[in-house]
Amino acid sequence: MLVLRLNKAGMPQEWIHPESAAKLYCQNKVLFELGESDCVLHGGWNRQGKQSTLTLSSIIACDGKVADLTGKIALNNRFLFRRDNHICLYCGNQFSPSQLTRDHITPRSRGGRDCWTNVATACARCNHAKGARTPEEASMPLLAVPFKPNIYERFYLMNRRILADQMAFLSSHFSQQRQWLPLNR
Ligand SMILES: [Zn+2]
Repeated sequence: MLVLRLNKAGMPQEWIHPESAAKLYCQNKVLFELGESDCVLHGGWNRQGKQSTLTLSSIIACDGKVADLTGKIALNNRFLFRRDNHICLYCGNQFSPSQLTRDHITPRSRGGRDCWTNVATACARCNHAKGARTPEEASMPLLAVPFKPNIYERFYLMNRRILADQMAFLSSHFSQQRQWLPLNR
């Protein structure tokens, strides 16, 4: 498991390995725990033959340096497809990543930017059918509004093995747009 580290204001900072989290515990930097699941790390043995253990929470908030992560989210296909739940935003079918493409809603050849709000997950077939046209021109309306992930969504996109309590924490801060349902189905 990875531990979600927050700053003292409760904003996500990074996913860290349990060993790194243990170090923060030992340095007394953990201010509070929000996770409901625990991870037990085993340490050295004492003279009485008892092994030391350290129980880590799945979400910890720490004092110290606060990273400003606003606005910094790489646009890559892995994150894009995950944002759209691997669903082609034109036909509404779900595909494996290898069958998906990044569609520029306003085509790049027409001045469309390569940014979160101008890209949609599309299957190869729909992308080809749409060609260098806008959805209106191609009569292929988008099934959802493309959005730029907020900080909590970003942390969701970054980790593929999120625990239930971590997901509950992150998703409570997801933007409304994230709870999209196909619009025209
Ligand atoms: Zn499609």
